[in-house]
Amino acid sequence: MENSKPSKLEFNHSKDTNSGYVEVALNLSVPGPFTYRIDIEKFSTVTLGYRVKVPFGNRNLTGYIVSGIRKRNPSNIPNQKIRNVIDILDDKAVLTEELLTLTKWSSFYYHCEWGEMIRAALPGLRESKSRKFFQLTSQGVQSLLELENTQHLPGLSPNLSLRDKITSLLDAKPYSFNSLLSELTKEENEFLEKGKNFEKKVASQIRSLLNLDLIEEFKKDSIGTLEKKILFVRLKKGLDKRILDSFDKRAFRQVQIVHEILRKGSVSISELDSEFIGARSVCSRLFEKKIIEYFENVQIREELSDNKDSLSKGLNLTKEQNEVVSSIANDIQNKEHSATLLHGITGSGKTEVYLHLVKRVLEQKRTALILVPEIGLTPQLLERFRKRFGNQIACLHSAFSEKKRTEEWLKIRNSKVKVVIGTRSAVFAPLSDLGLIVMDEEHDSSYKQEESPRYNARDIAVYRSKKMGIPIILGSATPSFESFHNTEKGNYKLKKLSSRPSGQRLPKVEIVDLRKESVGDPKNPVLISKRLSESIYERLERGEQTLLFLNRRGFSSLVLCRQCGESIQCENCSTSLTFHRDGGDELRCHMCDFRTDLPESCHCGSKEIAYMGIGTERVEESLRARFHKAKIKRFDRDSIRTTQDYDEILTAMRKKEIDILIGTQMVSKGHDFPDLTLVGVLVADVGLNLPDFRAGERTFQLLTQVSGRAGRDRVAGEVIIQTFRPDNYVINYAKTHDFNSFYEKEIVSRELLGYPPFKNLLRLRFESENNEFAVKAADWGSNLLIEMGLKRDKIEDDGESLVFLGPAPAVFVKVRKNWRYHILVKSASHEKLNILVQKFQQKYFENKKLSKDVRLVVDIDPYSLL
Ligand code: ADP
Ligand code: ZN
Ligand code: ZN
Repeated sequence: MENSKPSKLEFNHSKDTNSGYVEVALNLSVPGPFTYRIDIEKFSTVTLGYRVKVPFGNRNLTGYIVSGIRKRNPSNIPNQKIRNVIDILDDKAVLTEELLTLTKWSSFYYHCEWGEMIRAALPGLRESKSRKFFQLTSQGVQSLLELENTQHLPGLSPNLSLRDKITSLLDAKPYSFNSLLSELTKEENEFLEKGKNFEKKVASQIRSLLNLDLIEEFKKDSIGTLEKKILFVRLKKGLDKRILDSFDKRAFRQVQIVHEILRKGSVSISELDSEFIGARSVCSRLFEKKIIEYFENVQIREELSDNKDSLSKGLNLTKEQNEVVSSIANDIQNKEHSATLLHGITGSGKTEVYLHLVKRVLEQKRTALILVPEIGLTPQLLERFRKRFGNQIACLHSAFSEKKRTEEWLKIRNSKVKVVIGTRSAVFAPLSDLGLIVMDEEHDSSYKQEESPRYNARDIAVYRSKKMGIPIILGSATPSFESFHNTEKGNYKLKKLSSRPSGQRLPKVEIVDLRKESVGDPKNPVLISKRLSESIYERLERGEQTLLFLNRRGFSSLVLCRQCGESIQCENCSTSLTFHRDGGDELRCHMCDFRTDLPESCHCGSKEIAYMGIGTERVEESLRARFHKAKIKRFDRDSIRTTQDYDEILTAMRKKEIDILIGTQMVSKGHDFPDLTLVGVLVADVGLNLPDFRAGERTFQLLTQVSGRAGRDRVAGEVIIQTFRPDNYVINYAKTHDFNSFYEKEIVSRELLGYPPFKNLLRLRFESENNEFAVKAADWGSNLLIEMGLKRDKIEDDGESLVFLGPAPAVFVKVRKNWRYHILVKSASHEKLNILVQKFQQKYFENKKLSKDVRLVVDIDPYSLL
């Protein structure tokens, strides 16, 4: 039983040869790691990468050992001030040496604390919080037995005193104080004895029970060891069934439990506990009588064994596919690092290439890591991998429950699987003997984490493959400019898949000029042009499916007053609220999820409220009005809440139970529907107007991805793009599926304006609930940069000094009550940027008042500039 409070002993400077010193990384933004003393004898198995519990301030935190055990205090903190490691949390290191190096490098690159990066790398593992539990002592069990003999009442009875109720409850299982309290309060309802008073009474009873040694306390971590050991009981060796004859008939609970044990041979305590009241204490009595014995075992879960014959064989590769596979297979064989950008049009067989490569890796008895974007990890994709590789696969998805994530993570850590498919944080999957990394849809923005630590999994994946000396393959139909530029510089190899193996051609794309559509009633803006409408009718007649795309959720995205023209804004954010019909009429903020009822009138007094702007809900409604008989479904974050919803819609789509699917970005990738022959993009310009240098790149990607959904099978597909800017080059290159020409044009302005991939960016954002503080901090920041020799508002650095833009209000100047101002620093050299951030952060932390009032967000290679 550990004591969590710093005891006097702990501060004693012990010359004890049994203790050593370790460095522990903590998930805090305070510069670490921190030195702790550790009892070498007690924790003899501990090495690098273990999770430990350590005191920090007046709390206990989970930390990670990031150094070997040293005999001497390595820090300049006096020995007597160094505190002790309280406990180790697992029976195995959670981090391999490789992952320690990887997280350290990542924390260095993205300027966060090592412990923060480690935490981000272990999203499946819950931070351990230890709680106090109470249980009966054997003396307590004895006195309870006496009580039962006089009462003859099992369980709780209202006539029992509070003290007896507590011991009866504890007889069944250990309780924490809070769970005990809530259990007791349930019973106490009729006495109205709830609240603080009652809590005090319970606390005082517990104290006195503790003093009388009738109960004892112990601490339990809410997450146990890596491989959960479970307590079992069995009959003591040498005993036989006749033992039951010698039982006192009144001890019916003991008889019951011995029967159960005889029947099953051995049984876990928790199983017994769920079937018999008070099983734990009965067992301890049986143990004292030397009738049963305890043993620990790892819980065995039955794994389905694969029937090798049922696994599907790979397809015969096309010439282009074959070339990619053999080139990379060579590198796998020779354990040589290479980075390959696989630029293949949608449906060109990229996934088939990955499958073949993974097979090569497995033949070498090594492991493979497959990274996919959040919405790309579909049941369909998993199914394809499972069919090929059976249960050698683990899946890490951010949408999984904590329990499921931990289970999957443990399979990987304990080398039970050879292939991992996962989203962003799976880049840190603890696979050993890694042979290949695959990153599908490498341009996808979900690889960048938009909260601290703000890492990009793509860059970490490339680094990891380099360190390991293994190939990485980055696949996309619309490569990121960064990656494509890397092929031009010769850092990455470029491989192309220019046709679909099915011989199916890319869909024909048509542009509809929305300006020419008769606008008609402004209350009912045109959503679906005549051209699109006709095409939908055709599909309905032919029994084919249509997908309509609009990247805006809700009913109307703008609610405003006709009198004063003001739109209704979120209370916490500088953005207008969206009107939602689904789930009850209300206004919602898409940034902070603030919700409010519809206003009766504007604050100017007018009752004329207009609902402008088109969202997916409104489209759904107008489709229903226009195509009465069509089966219509909506596919967005409001209609799809769980992975089950997701599966259901996709299955319905495959079974042709849906004629028209209307969706946001969620529908843009990954799904293959054989009878989907028409894709309509309702307003292509939505993303084009954003003040972001990547707006064009993103729109091109989105349009290409969505278009790629049409006609993947027998029937040729058709795409109709509606836009107010039919002459825009982004839309026109998307029309001809011409990535290369789009890149050639767009890259020129990137170079001219000094943006990635030519310059590295750093975004410094200042956030505070107090607007004035945030403004001042941003000014402080820009003055500091000028002091440090940076030039403001210049495009080119002169090679010597870096340049910066700002300070300026962020596009959304207020989010979740926080005011935000930012500065954008550009540099040709990442190294220089790196040094700059270090100095800048140091000055910020030195300025105690500033760092207390205003949060500094450092974003390296930022994706979002909003
Ligand atoms: P991508 O990942 O580029 O979108 P997929 O790998 O999903 O492409 O392939 C698209 C379709 O083509 C799938 O139905 C797949 O089964 C089929 N396919 C891929 N490679 C081949 C091949 N070599 N021969 C026949 N069909 C193939
Ligand atoms: Zn008004
Ligand atoms: Zn908001």
